[in-house]
Amino acid sequence: MVRGDLRVEGGRISSVGDGGNGPADEVVDASGFAIVPGFVNAHTHVAMNLLRGIADDRDLAGFLETLFAVDAHRTEADVEAGARAGVAEMLLSGTTSFLDLYYFEDAVARAVEALGIRGFLGWAVLDPELTTQKGVPVDNARRFIERWKDHPLVSPLVAPQGVYVCGKETWLRAKEVAEKEGTLLHYHLSETRREVHEHQDKTGRRPVVWLEEIGFLGPRSVAAHGVWLTGEEIDLIARRSVGVAHCPSSNLKLASGGVAPVVELRAAGATVGLGTDSVASNNSLSMLREMHLAGLVQKNQRWDASVLSAQELLDLATLDGARLLGRSHDLGSLEVGKQADFSLFRLDHPTLFPARPEAVVSHLAYSASEEAVDSVYVAGVPVVRHRSLVQGDWTQVRRNGEAAADALWSSRPK
Ligand SMILES: [Zn+2]
Repeated sequence: MVRGDLRVEGGRISSVGDGGNGPADEVVDASGFAIVPGFVNAHTHVAMNLLRGIADDRDLAGFLETLFAVDAHRTEADVEAGARAGVAEMLLSGTTSFLDLYYFEDAVARAVEALGIRGFLGWAVLDPELTTQKGVPVDNARRFIERWKDHPLVSPLVAPQGVYVCGKETWLRAKEVAEKEGTLLHYHLSETRREVHEHQDKTGRRPVVWLEEIGFLGPRSVAAHGVWLTGEEIDLIARRSVGVAHCPSSNLKLASGGVAPVVELRAAGATVGLGTDSVASNNSLSMLREMHLAGLVQKNQRWDASVLSAQELLDLATLDGARLLGRSHDLGSLEVGKQADFSLFRLDHPTLFPARPEAVVSHLAYSASEEAVDSVYVAGVPVVRHRSLVQGDWTQVRRNGEAAADALWSSRPK
């Protein structure tokens, strides 16, 4: 930790610790605040913010039954209204980048653009005969990438949904598009035992082994969950440079039964980040809550209070997330030359008391409230100031979101 000034020029950090050279156009007095790298939420479905609380207290099968029924009624306008609410929630809790998996991603991209967050947006891809998308999903993903690839805040990518809806051809075509366009791949992997066993029954292989055999596994790909992995699969993930987005809240709430082998994955050399998953299964997009829970669950599971220290939890939520996105040269920490994506946390907030320098990282990992986030910057541009959105208006976002939620909630099965 450094005590001093942070200078931003052209959206990037130009000095840390001293005032840098010469006068500035604008000086922000950050005394009384901790400047913290923006959080990277490595797995979510932000448009689902309209559905918080719609399928609580049900197992994955019951949860999906409700969601699929509601999904059938969803319009692109609903996706945009939900995405705006979700982006607002993330910005107001200190998240500056997120990795999303959904359809109608153009609507999510518009929400990103409007409110000023950084979006890594994966167009959901599944076998053509299983989708409600018009046309072939992989082709839709490719066109989405072409529409948004030069946007400064939007990084479009292709997102095979999971082995339960994607056959070999879909996985390989998705990989081909990602390689040709130079994008990431993002997908669900080994979230539940049922998923693993059904795939094994169908193919004779566990999902990770099968993906290796068909030639899919490789770098620049981020697998969400990775709860049910064998030692062999952990080695494969590390060897193929696959990143893993750990989503402890969602796994616990849906009663996945297992705990992702985060310690083993890291020991094997794999990069692990943290994701919230959607608010239908979390029910929050706060990375502060996710750090806290990730730490507690791993410590308890392993009977070892020393695993995943506060600093390591903060790294999972920032620099390791940037590594997953292939952007650690540019995002995830406050270093000269990187994008100026950061938050100002109020050190006078009760949840950061006592605000001693040696305890601030611990407070961020274990106790800080979202309410302590005062201001947030993305590429040096203020997007939250004194707990209000700068580029949008929460009252308006909320009003549009509530109207869209009314229609969807009335379509859910009783
Ligand atoms: Zn998910």
